[in-house]
Amino acid sequence: MKALVINKKDLKHNIDTIKELSKKSKEFDTNIEFKIIGVVKGNGYGLGLIEFSKFLIDNGINILAVSTVEEAIEIRNAGIKEKIIMLSSTCIEKEIELLIENDIILTIGSEMSAIKVNEISKKLNVTTKVNLKIDTGFGRYGFLYSDMEKTIEILKKLHNIDIVTTFSHFSMSFAKKDKWTKIQFDRFVNAVSILQENKIKTGFLHICNSSAFLKFDNMYLNAARIGSAFLGRIIVPNTFGLKRIGVMRTNISEIKILPKGYNIGYSNTLKTKRETKVAIIPVGYYDGFNVRNSHDNYRIRDKIRYLYNDVKDLFKNKELKVTINDKKYTVMGKIGMYHIVIDITDNDEIKINDEVYLDINPLYVDSSIRREYI
Ligand SMILES: *Cc1c(COP(=O)(O)O)cnc(C)c1O
Repeated sequence: MKALVINKKDLKHNIDTIKELSKKSKEFDTNIEFKIIGVVKGNGYGLGLIEFSKFLIDNGINILAVSTVEEAIEIRNAGIKEKIIMLSSTCIEKEIELLIENDIILTIGSEMSAIKVNEISKKLNVTTKVNLKIDTGFGRYGFLYSDMEKTIEILKKLHNIDIVTTFSHFSMSFAKKDKWTKIQFDRFVNAVSILQENKIKTGFLHICNSSAFLKFDNMYLNAARIGSAFLGRIIVPNTFGLKRIGVMRTNISEIKILPKGYNIGYSNTLKTKRETKVAIIPVGYYDGFNVRNSHDNYRIRDKIRYLYNDVKDLFKNKELKVTINDKKYTVMGKIGMYHIVIDITDNDEIKINDEVYLDINPLYVDSSIRREYI
């Protein structure tokens, strides 16, 4: 058996830390109370969509954001009444209808999506609250920042939508160099002022995700969309005391002795150097252990950087470890889909059913695995 264990005290600590940091926002606009939007996409960053949403709400985060229609509906079906923003824009009629019926704030990210949302709202005889997205250089959803005149013309004709918020998304806010993020921010602020000068309501404004929020307190505007910072799993240096959330707990299921020179695992990558006592742990890559983002479509220079780091790791002999009774043990051979083997030769105390802890990013832990809030 296994569970992803989430420490409530640590999670609360992270939420409180983010709230404390957000107080730096008051210089921007004292009329609007600063909002922290809890991003709960990806099964609540792996913490469980509903449990995580409820935990955030219980701790004062009263706007949630999701990326799919399914996520939005699941939250509503759980009886959660708080504001929900759907961050992706869609032109698909069925999806728009479902979102409107479930009282979700829809993102309009193109002429077509805006017209569709308006059209369906008109048909249903409602005014739909929407989130206007400006593309400041991401190339995904959003009206292009350089196209504001055309955007204004389109929006002026749509009377069944009510823009309650306007936002953009950074593509490189985690990077050491700030230049591109500053360019995106300036594009956003500029686009917003053109809209406002032309009497287009913009609602509250937000552009920061976790990295940007932690790095640029001059870019806070009226709100920030926070996901990974709640888990303390951030790319920027953690100088904020954020705690790392999520650890896999399981139990030792088998113990045995293997002779010297014996193979362990697929592909025969490892032979025992001595008679070895091993313990088998029922966790593998299916559970997210040692799973990383693949380096898809990276620039050549980044690929070289990753290659360099991999080679460096090779010499550092970065072994994978698990923790039993606060001591670390080395994983032997390749990781299986559901199993790993560890070396416990020098330990006489470890026995069947002892608890084992593995550091795994909850995002990679299959949603079928139990989440345990302790
Ligand atoms: C995922 C996402 C976020 C949250 O990003 P973090 O870096 O995890 O805080 C914010 N905004 C948008 C549009 C997102 O898709």
